[in-house]
Amino acid sequence: MGYAPSALALVPFVSVENMMRIVHAVGIERFLAALAGYIEEDFRRWELFDKTPRVATHSREGVIELMPTSDGESYGFKYVNGHPKNTKEGRQTVTAFGVMAEVDTGYPVLITEMTILTALRTAAMSALAAKFLAPEGARSMAIIGNGAQSEFQAVAFRSLVGIDRLSLYDIDRTASERCAKNLAGRGFDIAVCASPEAAVEGADIVTTVTADKQYATILTDNMVGPGIHINAAGGDCPGKTELHRDILLRSSIFVEYPPQTRVEGEIQQLEKDHEVTELWQVITGKAAGRAGRDQITLFDSVGFAVEDFSALRYMRDLIRTTPYFDELDLLADPDDPRDLFGMLMRAAALPA
Ligand code: NAD
Repeated sequence: MGYAPSALALVPFVSVENMMRIVHAVGIERFLAALAGYIEEDFRRWELFDKTPRVATHSREGVIELMPTSDGESYGFKYVNGHPKNTKEGRQTVTAFGVMAEVDTGYPVLITEMTILTALRTAAMSALAAKFLAPEGARSMAIIGNGAQSEFQAVAFRSLVGIDRLSLYDIDRTASERCAKNLAGRGFDIAVCASPEAAVEGADIVTTVTADKQYATILTDNMVGPGIHINAAGGDCPGKTELHRDILLRSSIFVEYPPQTRVEGEIQQLEKDHEVTELWQVITGKAAGRAGRDQITLFDSVGFAVEDFSALRYMRDLIRTTPYFDELDLLADPDDPRDLFGMLMRAAALPA
């Protein structure tokens, strides 16, 4: 007889192929709006989460990170890397997978690809922040850095904020052209620009989402006029930033989780006690968001574990209504829970 784990021990697994099926079954704009809803719900109950800065292992070429959190009922973590040189070798800068488990038993209840899901959750998070911080009636956005994350950002800002004019800039023009092509037919008026200055000219929102392992200066102070919202998503590691320090000094800065952002975000360039506002406080009405027309708001996004938890929670709920997952034989399941060794020995009789 073969080994037959019980249903309790089978873990739903969402592959890349099934993730793509699920996104299409829901529709990408609806998916992003629903995911932003899950993130907003979790930011509203921020205080009950068990929070810690992510655990990062740095190397010369990149970083590998583990991002855990728990709301007391469920536990989630994401494995994610960031290797800007990867695209030159046909690999992606960022890849990820994640696990959700129940706290009560410790048993995983979901394992999923999170490369696509991270792009979706980062975009949903950025657009959610912009809903609270961007100037009223914002229609136009510049995107500097037109790699893997860029189209997701554009679609999320259309879905949640109403952005319909895009100006794109990348040091590699073919990246901007691919981005524009991928977004064709989605209701955007798109300009591919020859310089970052041209891209940000007249934009209500500027998204920076470049990948470079250095203190880069994607935006200089003279490029940032009053009243805009900056969504700085690409600087997310020690020694990896995108904005000139002078911009930070003129901006009202909003962050996810200060102990992580002070090490990884744009604000690593500032004094440790420089005033920042936690986004969850804006979402819950405990702190003000945009206060005036001329204010420069900056979402110093690095990506925090609670957002991945929300994404895992959304997937766990979604797969209950779709057939798009497999069941993994991931957890050993002896008939007598204490007879793990006996189960292993009996397996000698399994057909090779
Ligand atoms: P990617 O490598 O696919 O794309 C990056 C793009 O930036 C490339 O097209 C590159 O040519 C361009 N670029 C590099 N330097 C530039 C410059 N000086 N000016 C203009 N363009 C420039 O990377 P990706 O997957 O799109 O990720 C982009 C960044 O976002 C990475 O740094 C990644 O770590 C970060 N990220 C952040 C979060 C978050 O939650 N904040 C989540 C995921 C990824």
